[in-house]
Amino acid sequence: TQLRQQEIKRTKTVCTYCGVGCSFEMWTRDRHLLKVQPVTDAPANGISTCVKGKFAWDFINSPQRLTTPLIRENDRFRPASWEEALDLVAKRLLAIRDETGPDSIGFIGSSKGSNEEAYLTQKIARLIIGTNSVDNSSRYCQNPATEGLFRTVGYGGDAGTIADLAQAELVVIVGSNTAENHPVIASRLKAAKKQRGQQWLVVDPRRHEMAERADQHLRIHPGTDLVWASAMSRYMFDHGYADEAFLTQRVNNVEAYRRSLEPFTLDYAAQITGIQEADLRAAAERIGRAGSVCIMWAMGITQHSHGADTSTALSNLLLVTGNYGRPGTGGYPMRGHNNVQGASDFGCLKNFYPGYESVSDPQVRDKWARAWGVDPQRLSLEIGEDNFMMVKLASSDQLRAMYVIGEETAFSDADTTNVHQGFSELDFLVVQDLFLSRTAQFADVVLPGCPSVEKEGSFVNTERRIQRFYPVMPPLGDSRPDWLILTQLAARMGFDWGYTHPGQIMAEVAGIAGSFAGVSYERLEGWKSQLWPVKADGSSTPLLYTDQFKSADGRATLYPVSWQPPAEEADADYDLLLNNGRMLEHFQSTNQSGRGGRTTSLSPEWYVEISPELAAGRNLNTGDWVRLSSRRGALEIPVLVTDRVQGKVLFISIHQGKEGINQLTGEHHDPAVNTPAYKEIAIRLDALDRT
Ligand code: SF4
Repeated sequence: TQLRQQEIKRTKTVCTYCGVGCSFEMWTRDRHLLKVQPVTDAPANGISTCVKGKFAWDFINSPQRLTTPLIRENDRFRPASWEEALDLVAKRLLAIRDETGPDSIGFIGSSKGSNEEAYLTQKIARLIIGTNSVDNSSRYCQNPATEGLFRTVGYGGDAGTIADLAQAELVVIVGSNTAENHPVIASRLKAAKKQRGQQWLVVDPRRHEMAERADQHLRIHPGTDLVWASAMSRYMFDHGYADEAFLTQRVNNVEAYRRSLEPFTLDYAAQITGIQEADLRAAAERIGRAGSVCIMWAMGITQHSHGADTSTALSNLLLVTGNYGRPGTGGYPMRGHNNVQGASDFGCLKNFYPGYESVSDPQVRDKWARAWGVDPQRLSLEIGEDNFMMVKLASSDQLRAMYVIGEETAFSDADTTNVHQGFSELDFLVVQDLFLSRTAQFADVVLPGCPSVEKEGSFVNTERRIQRFYPVMPPLGDSRPDWLILTQLAARMGFDWGYTHPGQIMAEVAGIAGSFAGVSYERLEGWKSQLWPVKADGSSTPLLYTDQFKSADGRATLYPVSWQPPAEEADADYDLLLNNGRMLEHFQSTNQSGRGGRTTSLSPEWYVEISPELAAGRNLNTGDWVRLSSRRGALEIPVLVTDRVQGKVLFISIHQGKEGINQLTGEHHDPAVNTPAYKEIAIRLDALDRT
C-alpha cells in the first residue's frame, strides 16, 4: 500500500471549465486521474467544486485527442512532422502578409488557454504579422459588459471578489443562471442567504433555480432589461434613494443622466417589460433600502443587440445608489470560460495591448515597440477586426488567412451556415486544438495543442484573480503545450524569443504592462494568487474603486442610454422566441465535457423547453417531436413541457445537436461591440408525427 501511495502524484491545477476559477489537487498515477481533491487553501472556491470540475476529465485520455500535426492534402488530412507543419504555417502566413498586407490575416486566441499563450498569440499577430486583428471568445459573451464598465467606471473586470458577492446585503441577478453556469458562486450565495439572510432579486424570463430561491423574481420579456434598470435609476432619484453625497464627490454627468431618465417611469417600464408596476416598485424599494448591492449579469444581458447599453444601464444604477467602492458592492459580469478574462487582459483584443493599453495611442505603441526591440513603425496604430468581422470578411478577398486556437468557431458563432462558407473560402486556415473539431475540419494545417493538465501557465478568473496551474501529466503523444508551439512558430518567422518556461513570458508582460507590474511566478507559487491591477510591490487590488475610478480625473461617469427594441421579435410568420443557454453538466460545444464519462451520461438528451400554456395550445406533451424554424434554418427536437418557461418564450441548450442552435441564429448584433444577438431568435414551431 505504501508503494502504491508513493506512486500517486498530487498536483495543483485550476479548473478548465467556467470562470469561477476553482483550484484543487489532482491525484494521478501515470495518466490515470484517480481523484479531484478540493483543498481549503483554494482562494476562489475552498473545498467546493461542481460536477464538471470533479468529473468532466475524460477528454484528457480520449482516443479522439490529436497526437500529431495534420496537413490537408487532396481534401484529406495526413499526419505530418512538427518541422513540416510549422515550416508550412510560417511560410504561408509570411507569404500572404507580403502579398496582400498584414490585415489580410486574422487571429482568434483561446479563452481556454493560458495568459501566457494569449500574450504570445497577440505578440505574433502584432509584432510578426503587423496586424491588430486578434480577438477571443469574449466577443461572443462579455464584451458588451466590459464596454458598459469602460463607459461608467473604467476597468474591464468585476468590481470586487466572490467574497464581496457573498457579503452583499442584496444581490441583483440579471440574465444569469448562476446555479448552472457558475455553480460554486451560486453555492456561496446560497450559504450567504441561509446564514445571513442575504436578499436576491432575480430578473430573468426563465424560472431557473436562482429565480426559485429568490426573494423576488421579475419575469421579464426578453431583451427589455435596459428599461427596468433605467426605471430603477429614475425611481432612486425621484424617491430620495440616490446617494447624493457619492454622486457629488465621485461622479460626473449627473444632471444630463438624470434628464435622460425622463421616459423611464414605472408605468412605461411595466408596458415594455411585461412586469407588473407594483412588482417594479417593490424591486425599486428593495434596491433603494439595501445597505450594499451587487449586480451580477451574464449572457441574458450581453447576447442581445443592445447588450452594451443594457450593461451600461446596470452600472449606472449602481453609481446612482452609491454601490461602488465599498465591500459588498459593485458590478459583476460573470465570465464564462476559465480564461476568457485572461485572454482579454493579456491582449487578445483588436484595440488593446495587454493590460488594456490602447493600440491607437502612439506613446503606448512606442513603449511596446521598445520592449519588443523593434522600430515603432512595425506596430500598427489601426484598430483591427474582431472575431465577428473576421468571420464575415473570410468570404471576401480582404481576409485571406486565419489562425484559430482552441475555439469552436464553426459551431459557436452565430449563423453557422455563413461561418462555414467563410472558412471554406479562406486561402489558408490554421487550427490549433485538442481535437479535430468542427472548425479544424476546415483547416489546411491542424496543430495538436495540450489541455491545461499537460502544461504550465496561469489563468485569470471572473474576479480578476491570477492563479498558476502545474503539469499533472506529460503531453499526450506528440502534442505540445500551446505556448511552445507559438514560440517555435515565431522562431521560424524570424523571431527567436527563446522561452523555455511560461514564467519567462509572464515576467516579460509584467515588465511592460502596468496592470501586471508586480505579477510573478514566485508570488503566484502554489495556492497563492494575485488580483489585478497588481502594483510593483506585488500588492493586489481585490476591490476596485475604493478611492478613484479609472478615468483621467478619477471620477466615474453616468452614461445616458436609450431604449431600442430587440433586432428580432416574434411576428406573424415566426411567432415564438427561442431563449438559450448552458446546462450544468456540459460546457459550450462539449468538445471537452462531452467525451464520455459521468457528465455526458447525466444529461445525454437534447430537448427544447416549452411552457404548459403553449403545450396545451398546440396539443403537445413531453417527448413529442417538433421542428423549430427560424429565418436561417431549422432543427428537429423533442419537447419538455415545464413552467421554467412562460408563454411564447422557449428555452434550448447551446451544447448539443450535430449542428447546434447556431443554424437558427442570425447576423444581427450589438453595433457597439459586434457581439451577436444570440438570444434574439424568432422561431416557428411545427409538431412532427414522430416520437
Ligand atoms: Fe468551479 Fe466552474 Fe470548474 Fe465548476 S466548472 S469546478 S464552478 S471552475
